[in-house]
Amino acid sequence: MLPLFVFVDACGWEIIKNDPFARTLAPNRKKLTSVFGYSSACVPSILSGRWPEQHRNWCYFVFDPKNSPFKALRPLHWLPEKLTSRRIFRRWLSKFIKHQLNFRGYFDLYNIPFKYISLYDFSEKKSPLQPQGMNRGPNIFDYLLERRVRYHVSRPEWTEEANLTSLMRELESEAVDFTFLYWPGLDGLLHEVGNQSPKVPAKLRLYERWLDQLLSLAKRHYAEVRLYIFSDHGMANCDEVLDLRSKIDALDCRMAEDYAVVYDSTMARFWFFNHHARTLITDFLNQVPQGRIVQDAELEQMRTFFPDRYFGELIFLVKEGLLIVPSHMGERPIRAMHGYHPSDPQSFAVLCTNQPTIPDEIVAIPDIYRLMTRDVEEVIKLLNHCASPREALRSTV
Ligand SMILES: [Zn+2]
Repeated sequence: MLPLFVFVDACGWEIIKNDPFARTLAPNRKKLTSVFGYSSACVPSILSGRWPEQHRNWCYFVFDPKNSPFKALRPLHWLPEKLTSRRIFRRWLSKFIKHQLNFRGYFDLYNIPFKYISLYDFSEKKSPLQPQGMNRGPNIFDYLLERRVRYHVSRPEWTEEANLTSLMRELESEAVDFTFLYWPGLDGLLHEVGNQSPKVPAKLRLYERWLDQLLSLAKRHYAEVRLYIFSDHGMANCDEVLDLRSKIDALDCRMAEDYAVVYDSTMARFWFFNHHARTLITDFLNQVPQGRIVQDAELEQMRTFFPDRYFGELIFLVKEGLLIVPSHMGERPIRAMHGYHPSDPQSFAVLCTNQPTIPDEIVAIPDIYRLMTRDVEEVIKLLNHCASPREALRSTV
């Protein structure tokens, strides 16, 4: 038996609700609740079956000057901004820093100003797509390793096609007993063109062709293929921008002296150094109609509350469809974004499977982990049944 888990980034419920995506291959569909945060929170939650408050992979940048690995970059703020704010320069520098600092996961400096870079730490130094890749606790790859199950996982540095080819080769040689395929392309496309573009269904048709190829190959080599196609969140079109930074800058308190902030694209996270700044900023944010301060009780409910305030003392979240621009994530607007409240319509994720039933307790994206471990246990049972695992599988055909 081969569990085939295919992660299609940003393939939200609203994206495929009225689309026949994978209907013939995986007809059983379910709408899943996402995790509050970005892919930096969602992906580790899927891979570990736990929530951000447990695994502590939430937002990328945090205020932590003591542990900041970026101190050496501070002098770069003397370079002309024309150069340092350019994406191409930032991408190149991000690659260089990632290598220098031995970061294993995804890393991007985004638009963090060099003037303040030494105030921040980056919270994802390891890759959640590898064993021991979580900030806290194990993930599915630790689980597989411990049980000596041979698995395939996509390499994020490769293209979708290269990962597909590599998996096909492994299936042909029956070299794996569990697969986790990761397709990030739809997410990138949606950010660029929005959720109404004809390019979106075109991409879904391409994925269907790939899935067809994969499944027919897998079925030639494995007695049973359990297909699960799932996502981490959806994507909302951004029709309005909010320049929060200039409004906060205009208040009677100073960044780095009175407070620190990370402007994510849908959230602003603040740390305060004095009472004056806290009151001033809190009062101001309470007047901003485009968003709201997320209270601790609600953060707890969403399981993204951190008692040590590691990711921010105050979390401001905008309404779906709004984009904070400029932000530390980008200088210019993009067509669409995710990272809104999990109850906003475009936030919902999806699970499509060829299995006849989806257990009732599978309701949110971290629950996908339970399907993975359930199937791994069954694979192990099958493999243990016979001295020669391959023969055992073939005899069931
Ligand atoms: Zn994205």
